[in-house]
Amino acid sequence: MSLVIIGSIAFDTIQTPRGRRERIVGGSCTYCSLAASFFTAPKIVGVVGEDFPRDVIEFFKSRNIDTAGLEVKKGKTFHWEGHYGYDPNQRETITTELNVFEDFRPRLPESYRAADIVFLANIDPDLQDGILSQLSQPGLVALDTINYWIANKPASLWTALKKVNIFFANEEELKMLTQETNLIKAGKKLLQAGPKLIVVKKGEHGALVFGRSFVFGMLALPCEDVVDPTGAGDSFAGGFLGYLDKSKSLARKDVRKAGIFGSVLASFAIEDFGYERFKTLAHQDIEARFREFKKLVSF
Ligand code: AMP
Repeated sequence: MSLVIIGSIAFDTIQTPRGRRERIVGGSCTYCSLAASFFTAPKIVGVVGEDFPRDVIEFFKSRNIDTAGLEVKKGKTFHWEGHYGYDPNQRETITTELNVFEDFRPRLPESYRAADIVFLANIDPDLQDGILSQLSQPGLVALDTINYWIANKPASLWTALKKVNIFFANEEELKMLTQETNLIKAGKKLLQAGPKLIVVKKGEHGALVFGRSFVFGMLALPCEDVVDPTGAGDSFAGGFLGYLDKSKSLARKDVRKAGIFGSVLASFAIEDFGYERFKTLAHQDIEARFREFKKLVSF
């Protein structure tokens, strides 16, 4: 099996009640591939500017991430600034500077085209759609987005959505996209459009997975000290898809287990700024937290 992840690689300026960090490395592809790297060897597609630190690319490689699809272009790396208050589920986007993203036309290296699982992480929906046409016949395609694209390119997003199997979204994005105020109605509307599974991320409250004939819920691990909520959703997707890639199965019990691993990886991501926590994370930590989750939901 193999997992290809296409998304943003960014400089993030982040302000939370625990502090401020200027231009630390973030981006949907970064969080997702690092989280997935604990289960499989993800292949990434993205673009950075000449200002992007080489040692971060070396760090990706040291985590078994294939960077053949990472382009270094003349210009500046994508920059995003977000501020959080005491509710980690609420964030305000201060700036989105697309920079090298503006005219990026991703091309999949030949060695990526037979991927079994493809994750179109948060990126311009036109680029997401363009990638789909370069793939041989992926077993599973998942897509994530952010309110910026729902507001700016809703038609492109609906076009891409029709071609995917799993849609990851948070509650606010789902309601905004479908223009529904009720989550169940919003989920149903999206299931009619194409995807077989809708994974609704509910931040510190966990996630809900909607299928055509079932719904199941997962709790997030109660966390006393959220340092930086950025990347929780992408880390969830990375843990989820990384586990599915490793287990080589889409049986319902494996989808549930994947959801728990997604929650486990998200719970680590928020313990420090940026992807700092992933630098020291070990497999034993992941297994131990998986057992904590098991205790949390058994009765
Ligand atoms: P998450 O907290 O999981 O929703 O993802 C946060 C990440 O998304 C940050 O690291 C940002 O760099 C990245 N991001 C923010 N806005 C955009 C955008 N418009 N397109 C692509 N990536 C973005």
